[in-house]
Amino acid sequence: MNIKNHFIFSIFFVFFLVKLYNSFFHKIDLLHVICGSLITFLIPDIDHPNSYIGYRLKYISIIIYNIFGHRNITHSIFGLIIFLLFLIYINNLYLNWDIDVIIGMFLGYLSHIIADIFTSHGVKLFWPFKIRIRFFFKNKFFYIIFILFSLFFIFKLFKF
Ligand SMILES: [Zn+2]
Repeated sequence: MNIKNHFIFSIFFVFFLVKLYNSFFHKIDLLHVICGSLITFLIPDIDHPNSYIGYRLKYISIIIYNIFGHRNITHSIFGLIIFLLFLIYINNLYLNWDIDVIIGMFLGYLSHIIADIFTSHGVKLFWPFKIRIRFFFKNKFFYIIFILFSLFFIFKLFKF
């Protein structure tokens, strides 16, 4: 999936989750969460040296690619948990950023994995297990139906 699609999906995903959360619990700042997600929504592709982020962090990328391959560990629940622990650690030690931004960074990473599930390649969500998870239709018509259905659900739920 390309950067533009990841970007659009990430914004929608975060917007939807924050709206949903805020309708039940205390308010979290949507802008802070979206800013956080924009920092991290491409990070899982660090496992490919030719990706946008992999190209810029070539050495780290080549190491991860050679050990784990593309769309394996960084696109799994295991990778997501490692990322979260790393994020909390770095934030406590150096960043001290607002919790809403950290939530956004977590959601940005998560949105990337979910978006890649909608591609023909899918992701090994339960890595190290080899099961490939994907939700892919060759016919774009199904995506349009899916998006329209989701939008309808969102509008109904939040009464826009
Ligand atoms: Zn990816």
